[in-house]
Amino acid sequence: MAIQTQNPATGKVVKTFDPHTDAEVDLALAKSVVAFHELRKWSFEQRAKHMQNAAKLLREDVDKLAKIMTLEMGKTFTSAKAEVLKSAAGAEYYADTAATHLADDVVKTDSAKSYRKYLPLGPVLAVMPWNYPVWQVMRFAAPALMAGNTALLKHASNVPQCALYIEDLFRRAGFPEGAFQTLLIGGAKVERVLRDERVRAATLTGSEPAGASVASICGQEIKPTVLELGGSDAFIIMPSADIEKAVKIGTTARTQNNGQSCIAAKRFFIHADIYDEVRALLKDSFEALNVGDPMKDSTDIGPLVNQDSLDTVLAQVDAALKDGAVRVTGAQAIESAGYYFTPGILENIPAESTAYHEEIFAPVALLFKVESLNEAIEIANSSPFGLGSAIFTHDEAEQEQAIHDIEAGATFINSMTTSNPQLPFGGIKRSGYGRELAAEGIRAFCNIKAVNIA
Ligand code: NAP
Repeated sequence: MAIQTQNPATGKVVKTFDPHTDAEVDLALAKSVVAFHELRKWSFEQRAKHMQNAAKLLREDVDKLAKIMTLEMGKTFTSAKAEVLKSAAGAEYYADTAATHLADDVVKTDSAKSYRKYLPLGPVLAVMPWNYPVWQVMRFAAPALMAGNTALLKHASNVPQCALYIEDLFRRAGFPEGAFQTLLIGGAKVERVLRDERVRAATLTGSEPAGASVASICGQEIKPTVLELGGSDAFIIMPSADIEKAVKIGTTARTQNNGQSCIAAKRFFIHADIYDEVRALLKDSFEALNVGDPMKDSTDIGPLVNQDSLDTVLAQVDAALKDGAVRVTGAQAIESAGYYFTPGILENIPAESTAYHEEIFAPVALLFKVESLNEAIEIANSSPFGLGSAIFTHDEAEQEQAIHDIEAGATFINSMTTSNPQLPFGGIKRSGYGRELAAEGIRAFCNIKAVNIA
């Protein structure tokens, strides 16, 4: 895949970049090690000061950076600005909390003193996706740098300007030269970096094949990994729910980021007693969405990221319809130069249909009519994925059952699944393993050393 900026709103290639040569990558690895030996000696206060600088710069650059994001991957300018501010808040969160999360943890033993000490590992490679091109990187980089690790970013090939901006951000924020570096390389060059003994760990956010490849190479090299992969999250609506609220939030949960979010609500399980009402409201809500130029304030949904993505979702919708699913609304390509697609809803999806089990990475909601919460959870759990989940109900027993029984890394009650620096984020099953954010996220790439003083 060429490393280039291609505007999804027009299909035009705006800028291409020469990939880094092996020699340039080797130099970056060498610099990363040198920077690590400096950063590991810095106090938390020193690291926090520079992380706060990065947050401040992000806030100052919000419009400039958001424009690059919209240009490269098509999210609305409004949502891009929100992502930049969220990334600044994520940086501030770890600047404020790293020292607490990584404080020596004294435990009582028979010895004079025993404790856990959290030490950095060294250079960590992050393979990142384009869909949240700044937030995904920040939620890795802020804890990694605050722990004293150094970071190497292999960003998705379609967001090179975002990747270079972030490298420059940490340099301007005052981190040591080489503490955060962007490698302009394609997926095929990742193996060479992973096998280099200077790289101590890796994290990947993206698709299953990419995750499996990185994990298997790291398995051979005995290096720790965190994998954040796809999802097909359940969004359950029960009769006691505030239906209008559930529909409003459900629409956002399925269509935000032009429908390209790992934690989007992808399968809606609606109790039979309220199915017709919810279906009609959801249809109206989806049809009211404004699809168009992502730079305009009035636009709710911009284009899909590229032609491949558009072709994939059209094939998935076609296959589902052939299998017997019924189109409630939308889910069609829009004739235009860019990769525009109408948000859509399908229902009556047969269990044999691939749409029943696959992730749809575009704004298409699948509706399932269920007779009980047990049935909703049973179908929800039949998915190979286990990332997020949401349930709308005011019945406390149903809330407890959902929390206990849904196989997912998160269950949100009467709200949509979101990532929040204070809560761990990650999946189970084929959605990956390990956790980002919160204390878990910063400890993921630490050597948790046992110290015992007799
Ligand atoms: P992708 O194709 O897997 O790309 C993600 C990253 O992996 C890119 O940097 C890509 O580089 C690289 N890559 C691809 N194949 C690779 C390989 N064999 N070895 C090493 N690196 C490889 O995923 P995507 O289509 O961009 O992103 C969408 C997927 O990410 C969806 O499934 C979504 O649900 C998931 N996602 C998950 C989370 C989460 O937190 N769980 C968050 C966001 C997205 P190139 O661009 O150069 O190919």
